[in-house]
Amino acid sequence: MIIVIKKHTDKDRVDALLKKLNGMGVNAVITQGESFDTLNVIGDTTKIDEQSFKAYDFVESVKRISAPFKLASDKTQKVIKVGNVNFGKDFVFIAGPCAVESEKQIVELAQDLKNAGANILRGGAFKPRTSPYSFQGLYDEGIKLLLKAKQQTGLPIISEIMGVSQLDLFCDVDIVQIGARNMQNFELIKNVATLNKPVMLKRGLANTVTEWLLSAEYLLSNGASDVILCERGIRTFETTTRATLDLTSVPYLKDTTNLPVIIDPSHAVGVSKFIKPLALAGASVGADGLMIEVHNDPENALSDGAQAVTSAQFKDIVDNVKQLLNAIK
Ligand code: PEP
Ligand code: MN
Repeated sequence: MIIVIKKHTDKDRVDALLKKLNGMGVNAVITQGESFDTLNVIGDTTKIDEQSFKAYDFVESVKRISAPFKLASDKTQKVIKVGNVNFGKDFVFIAGPCAVESEKQIVELAQDLKNAGANILRGGAFKPRTSPYSFQGLYDEGIKLLLKAKQQTGLPIISEIMGVSQLDLFCDVDIVQIGARNMQNFELIKNVATLNKPVMLKRGLANTVTEWLLSAEYLLSNGASDVILCERGIRTFETTTRATLDLTSVPYLKDTTNLPVIIDPSHAVGVSKFIKPLALAGASVGADGLMIEVHNDPENALSDGAQAVTSAQFKDIVDNVKQLLNAIK
């Protein structure tokens, strides 16, 4: 970290800042410049809030050199085993309905998805809907039905948790999803971290990659060791699609972190016919897998029917993505 200070600042004031830095467990070396002096801070600055130094009127600017997300920026390749697949090593296909609607729906679909090449079954039991009048999910019953589908197909399951009161219900869920709207619900994140199971952290609708990684850091520093990131599109000035799929985050994240990165084209684009091209794009920019919403009967889905593909369309996507991955290997 570099703290730029005004020249000719009273020595006592600079000494007070140096003392404060010492108290934070770091040292600083002063370099005299032409127009400004700089304090080159040496040591672990992870826990230091660089903004706090701007409270000193002689501090011109502060520049962080190392990332504020120390655990998330560890470069040792992380492999997260869930069922028969290894995130970070195998390309993973996660598929399922937006919401679990009935036993017949989820069990039949799970079997079709398994046959089509899905590795993990998704399904929302607690749905974060924009309108309070929209279908909110089946709650506890939804989790029970997902577990039934898991039992019958052997597919591991992923579902979104919306509140701390739901923690016990997720004991047998293989991956706990923290949705876009809860990416900065730090109390929820800290509690989910203690579950000691894989967590998929979706990017918030209006969050930067750094904020997203700091939320991942919350998980990692509170006990979660297996964190998977999911890019699901962000809100931009563009309104022709549901969101804008930020594919640029993938190579950046692969370069900066050791965490597997999944692309969710469904929530990004919101239109079923555009899922395939975006799935192919996600695979080609280096994502570790895809999460795709699939429904047995999209026209009658209780949520997100417009973006749901059928299992036949999902199979076509899987086949094409596999061909692409083979071609660019
Ligand atoms: C979901 O995956 O079910 C979901 C609600 O997605 P997001 O949090 O990305 O909107
Ligand atoms: Mn959905």
